Amino acid sequence: PMDAIGHRIQRFTISRADHPALISEQGTVNWRDLLGQINRIANRLRDAGLEPGDSVAALSENSADYVALYLGVLTAGGCMVPLSGMASAETLSLMLSDCRATFLFVSQKNGNLLQSFQPGLQGLPDDRIVALDENGEGIGQTLKSWLGDASAEARPANVSLDDAFNIIYSSGTTGTPKGILHDYRFRQRQMERMSLYGLDCDAINLVSTPLYSNTTLVSVLPTLFHGGTLVIMAKFDARRFLELAETHRVTHAMLVPVQYQRILADAEFDRFDLSSFKLKLCTSAPLRPDVIADAMARWPGNIREVYGLTEGGISTSLDCAAHPDKWSSVGIPTQGAEVRVIDEEDHELPRGETGELVGRAISMMRGYVNRPEQTEEMLWESPEGDVFYRSGDMGRIDEDGFIHILDRRKDMIISGGFNIYPVDLEKALLAHPAVDDAAVIGIPSEHWGETPLALVVLKSGHQDSSLTILEWANGQLGKSQRISAIELRGELPRSTIGKVLKRELREPYWQKIA
Ligand code: ATP
Repeated sequence: PMDAIGHRIQRFTISRADHPALISEQGTVNWRDLLGQINRIANRLRDAGLEPGDSVAALSENSADYVALYLGVLTAGGCMVPLSGMASAETLSLMLSDCRATFLFVSQKNGNLLQSFQPGLQGLPDDRIVALDENGEGIGQTLKSWLGDASAEARPANVSLDDAFNIIYSSGTTGTPKGILHDYRFRQRQMERMSLYGLDCDAINLVSTPLYSNTTLVSVLPTLFHGGTLVIMAKFDARRFLELAETHRVTHAMLVPVQYQRILADAEFDRFDLSSFKLKLCTSAPLRPDVIADAMARWPGNIREVYGLTEGGISTSLDCAAHPDKWSSVGIPTQGAEVRVIDEEDHELPRGETGELVGRAISMMRGYVNRPEQTEEMLWESPEGDVFYRSGDMGRIDEDGFIHILDRRKDMIISGGFNIYPVDLEKALLAHPAVDDAAVIGIPSEHWGETPLALVVLKSGHQDSSLTILEWANGQLGKSQRISAIELRGELPRSTIGKVLKRELREPYWQKIA
């Protein structure tokens, strides 16, 4: 069984006291000082009435204090609820009441959001709302004043593997956000798996995705649990990423596909010494083979693409150096995981056929908070009676056992009875020399039910007309896959972890007929 996070972290002070734990724009914090801060936060929370299992919410950009808060809440036996800064005030207040938050920690930047969701804070008195930055203007008390003279004595709570670790709200790219509850067992198993990728005490992990997303935690937690070092970016910027990577001799980074593209596109990329990199991880959306090829050629260290859901269940990984012929796949199931494909009637499909991917892995969520029916709907039972999780992704398993994702089931276009996977159409568009970015969505069509519309961003300096690109792309595609029209856009809307917000793109077209 796992040590309570508090116990585990305490040990680093003996062996790694002077080793840097967190490096951010605010400076460097070593393990001794980080531990002191974690204990102060934990003790203060307890003194202020936190009971084991209580939810503590945070709304902030990445910072050293945010990391200390995360670990402090866990050390006190609380359940961390990191909220997305992209969510609307209305959604945030729904989340706060859904998880029954007992404290809320907010950064200055998000402070003004507080006013607009006051009704959602009912039951949360002022002394339980704390500003995470030095300047708590408009929020009330700052972390520093709230901590007062709280003791740094180590009193970590005893937790069991079944206890709540965190609740992460789904980003809502496919619907209303649902609170995904992870326990210590989930996190321990995930960390054991990630340790295989060298996220150990010598790891220097550059964190540039938001701490509220599971994608980030997947690499952050093992680094912390092993006493490694995090280099924290409050906001991603390709040039700054390169500077920090060189300066701090970074060994690891978990990046989403658009970040690879932006970093590799930096005009000065080749000037930076990136020889310290051992491994880059990638998840959350498909990483294009041409981007992998570029990164493998110019950026030292291997790439591992990971496919999974915050809910758990599915877990696959692709070692890019070992399998250059499989860059279009997301690899094979990780140890202890199993993936199968089912049809619309929930029957299992033979290898090679396309359907919904279902999986079971050694780490799965406890369930959606307050939503037992939706938790139940996620499950698929195999003929042998094993429980799998539905992924909502369409895909297939090839003859070598590698898994290929086609698209999210909800993004699939059904046109004249044919299933069209937008990703095939996007690939065709992206192969055109003038196309920088592309997203294909289904829009209403009287004749076909739905028909594919492409939203395209041109590379700077290119002026090709949408008609020439349309004709060119359709020339590469099958008859039933034809794109009906192209609209040129300045950019595509993406979530903070780089997913194209297709629901947002689709909405105006469907509203017209609603
Ligand atoms: P919501 O369910 O509200 O859309 P979300 O997008 O935040 O929330 P996550 O659990 O973060 O949900 O994302 C899981 C999904 O991300 C997968 O179902 C899959 O569609 C996509 N995904 C994750 N990794 C990869 C990958 N390596 N390649 C392609 N797609 C991926």
